[in-house]
Amino acid sequence: MTLPLSRIAHRQASGGVLLEPTLRLTQTSAARTVAITLDACPGHFDHRIADMLVARNIPATITLTAAWMQHNTEGLAFLKSRPDLFALENHGAQHLPPVLGTEKIYGLTPAGSLAAIRAEVLGGAEAIAAATGQHPTWYRGAAALYSPEAIPLIEQLGFRVAGYSLSADEGASLPAKIVAARMAAARDGDVIIGHINQPKRDSGAGIAIGLATLQDAGVTFIRLSDLTPA
Ligand SMILES: [Zn+2]
Repeated sequence: MTLPLSRIAHRQASGGVLLEPTLRLTQTSAARTVAITLDACPGHFDHRIADMLVARNIPATITLTAAWMQHNTEGLAFLKSRPDLFALENHGAQHLPPVLGTEKIYGLTPAGSLAAIRAEVLGGAEAIAAATGQHPTWYRGAAALYSPEAIPLIEQLGFRVAGYSLSADEGASLPAKIVAARMAAARDGDVIIGHINQPKRDSGAGIAIGLATLQDAGVTFIRLSDLTPA
């Protein structure tokens, strides 16, 4: 896999610049290979996606917020019941973007300071460790945008930044048909981001269809936890 390639993604009204790291798989085998990463932002549990993953034995990386875990005990138990399929990684404690300052990001209040970013990252990891006994090694910030100063801090705390290369659902905002088409068009090495916390939105149906389409096309799926550092 490649190192995350930081690129300017978002210019704040205050003049600050946020980074959106890209992550792609490299040196995959001859078969077309992708990584499915699904965020459990605060919300609910989308069984349309989870049941498809289990029915087809598709491994996936699920990034969990502590806030989601607190309100989705059944969903968490479901994910824990299949450690062979689900790699549980860190999406933070309260879903606060790892961003300095006070400017909201897609409506989310940012952590604001390095100390608060540290608490957000470690709080998410501790909640996963408490619930599963496993220590996550990947962190994806809320909104997947980062102040430049946050990235070395996150790495010092022992996490790799879970970037992505293909957004399937744009924050679970897209119609199912478009989500499925985006996934079906995934190229070898893509790290696909989607959401598993919005069961009432159309997007999740598209993720489920996209998973089946990719598998029917012979795609191999891997989890971020299966990757070795670049
Ligand atoms: Zn999120």
